[in-house]
Amino acid sequence: MTLQDKSVIITGAGSGLGAAAAVSIARQGGKLTLVDMNADGLKATESAVKEAAPQAEVLLVTADVTDEKQVQDYVDQHVKAYGAIDGFFNNAGIEGKQNLTEDFTNAEFQKVIAVNLTGVFLGMEKVLKVMGEQGHGAIVNTASVGGIRGVGNQSGYAAAKHGVVGLTRNSAIEYGQKGVVINAIAPGAIMTPMVEGSLRQMGGDNWEEVGKEFVQPNPMKRFGKPEEVGALVAFLLSNEAGFINGTVIPIDGGQHIKY
Ligand code: NAD
Repeated sequence: MTLQDKSVIITGAGSGLGAAAAVSIARQGGKLTLVDMNADGLKATESAVKEAAPQAEVLLVTADVTDEKQVQDYVDQHVKAYGAIDGFFNNAGIEGKQNLTEDFTNAEFQKVIAVNLTGVFLGMEKVLKVMGEQGHGAIVNTASVGGIRGVGNQSGYAAAKHGVVGLTRNSAIEYGQKGVVINAIAPGAIMTPMVEGSLRQMGGDNWEEVGKEFVQPNPMKRFGKPEEVGALVAFLLSNEAGFINGTVIPIDGGQHIKY
């Protein structure tokens, strides 16, 4: 129980990696505030958490991470419920429409940046104020292999995720001395609704076949599982990872090291 009595905020908790991390953290004894725009998704995650860890305390907050007031509200609700913020999985994100840069459109670019970069910044801004004052805490930002490598057809996503890596490194230097560690994860293709949506953009109804082709360059020739990412996040938020700071950890079966 490496997160016994630690309280953790998770954004994008209504699906995929956020939901899997909620289960992993609750299994380790953590108390949760689950944040998402999708209220039904939050309820489904709460059920999964209670099934895995019936004793877990769970607070649900429906919020849009691009709205500064709503970000402050989820932070305030968490502090009111639990008294401190021990961990923050800053994870909500969207993929956006795939397109060449010349066809990407300013509107789509702004939309992806708003969620994947500004939303991450706003969360860090409000949470770090609390963590800095309390003198401890751990943040895990969700970047992507698209934040450390070129992927193609994803201008907004790549710009945002490279930005998340920059925010992580910048703030890790500022807050290490206050007892707060800040890291990012860089997942490869993990089978969540987002990746299914991405494969559908490429292959339509044939998306499962496209998926099999998609994983061939991967050293492990498979998609990652959300629970594999959840376990990494739970570790990074625990005291066991207390001297890991400012790092970007790929979790992609080793694909990022291939030339
Ligand atoms: P997902 O679509 O399954 O879940 C994302 C969740 O974020 C959804 O519940 C959605 O409602 C929520 N969300 C979206 N916009 C929001 C907003 N403005 N405010 C609040 N909530 C919002 O996707 P996922 O695969 O679990 O992705 C989670 C994170 O992981 C994202 O940042 C994504 O970019 C990143 N990521 C995923 C993969 C992958 O392969 N699945 C790889 C690399 C990075």
